[in-house]
Amino acid sequence: MSVETLIFEKGAPGRRTATMTTMDVPTEPLESMIPAQLLRETPAPLPEVSEIELVRHYTHLSQRNFGVETGFYPLGSCTMKYNPKLNEDMAALPGFARIHPLQPQHTVQGTLQLIYELEQYLAEIAGMARVTLQPSAGAHGELTGLMLIKAYHRSRNEEHRHIVLIPDNAHGTNPASATLADYKAVEVKTDSQTGGIEMSHLRALLEANGANLAAIMLTNPNTLGLFDANVAEIARLIHEVGGQLYYDGANANAVLGITRPGDMGFDVVHFNLHKTCSTPHGGGGPGAGPIGVKSHLVPFLPGPLPAKGEQSYYWEEPGPQSIGKVRANTGNFGVLVRAYTYIRTYGPDGLKHIAESAILNANYLKHELAPDYDIAYPLTCQHEFVVTAQRQKDEYSVTALDIAKRLLDFGMYAPTTYFPLIVHEALMIEPTETETRETLDYFVSVMRQINEEARTNPELVTTAPHTTVVGRLDQALAARKPNLRWMAGQEGTH
Ligand SMILES: *Cc1c(COP(=O)(O)O)cnc(C)c1O
Repeated sequence: MSVETLIFEKGAPGRRTATMTTMDVPTEPLESMIPAQLLRETPAPLPEVSEIELVRHYTHLSQRNFGVETGFYPLGSCTMKYNPKLNEDMAALPGFARIHPLQPQHTVQGTLQLIYELEQYLAEIAGMARVTLQPSAGAHGELTGLMLIKAYHRSRNEEHRHIVLIPDNAHGTNPASATLADYKAVEVKTDSQTGGIEMSHLRALLEANGANLAAIMLTNPNTLGLFDANVAEIARLIHEVGGQLYYDGANANAVLGITRPGDMGFDVVHFNLHKTCSTPHGGGGPGAGPIGVKSHLVPFLPGPLPAKGEQSYYWEEPGPQSIGKVRANTGNFGVLVRAYTYIRTYGPDGLKHIAESAILNANYLKHELAPDYDIAYPLTCQHEFVVTAQRQKDEYSVTALDIAKRLLDFGMYAPTTYFPLIVHEALMIEPTETETRETLDYFVSVMRQINEEARTNPELVTTAPHTTVVGRLDQALAARKPNLRWMAGQEGTH
């Protein structure tokens, strides 16, 4: 690959793409339509490039991108499943893509119907009374859910409840959301045998702090890929002391159509539509994190909520106890259209089949990898499982990071590394349901080869990747001083 493809500072003053001759129809100059105080005094500093430079730039960037459409992407917890093109077609329909959020309601009846029906589908899938589609991501759903719980306790004059229990294997967003909602996050230990909550620790915490408990946040199956069979008992214990149960729904791909957080005893749940319902994600967006609640929390939901009248759909303004808006009415609407399309495409039986296939694929990989890699919790898993490379580190000085980097040489993305935090040298593997047997077998064969390399030629692994455009980066430098975009005045300097 030439140097040209590696730099952003392209172009030279005066370079242009081909343009048509000036229109001979008289038009009002654009400048006259913009208020004078908003007009620039000097032109914006922009790259001046020829058309071929422009096209090559974006083509090269697209070739250097890795996504689920280029290869296997077993990034645990992130559910990088294939995103059906049908979803894209529907989201691009002009009636959906070209509307304005404040357009008169009678002109956007289809949009309102979609929002209304998606809310109902999600409520049914989760076993909840109502859903708001406003939150833009799982983390945003968590914060919204905790705000609802706070409003609920306040309405009962129990504002002193300030503790949120969170298992030590939870996703980092859980304690972050609890802290942001002005709660104190308290850790619950994982049982080393079952991989679920350590019940004696939970009981002790409730004994000491029950009266101050606001909620517990649980992911089930959890980030070890294990379903906590004590969940009904946990729900009973939490409710007994007046707490609420929050379900982190990021792992819903394992329970779709099989069980529901509402039936497990949860009061609030968020969805990660970008994970479970196949909308493209990564690199920070886009997403949607709707939350569902049981009936006692409905009065606190953000508003407005969609409603169905005799003749039409409309927005219903929220009641006095609502926490207010957490985003524009329609949420991240393009993502919602994709999720709606996905749910309608598969239907109830299809959704269940998705979960079953995701679980089967994960257990197949776990079984095939077990001779070469230690499974952190060697139990039947749900949609994902966690390997520990501690043995490879001890015996060959090859770490989980090295193994992850070496996988890139074979055209695959790496599993999630060093998470959950309670597993040393963790590699968290989630194949999803959309992969073929051949792809799964290829992954297994490469993982076996890497283990063999670690034994016989560890340097090959510790210096990987070798075939990617960019080798091993200085991660701290890349995070602190990223070189991601064109900067004025530095053309040709790299
Ligand atoms: C992805 C994830 C989240 C956060 O969701 P975002 O949509 O990325 O904000 C929370 N919990 C778990 C277990 C996750 O995997």
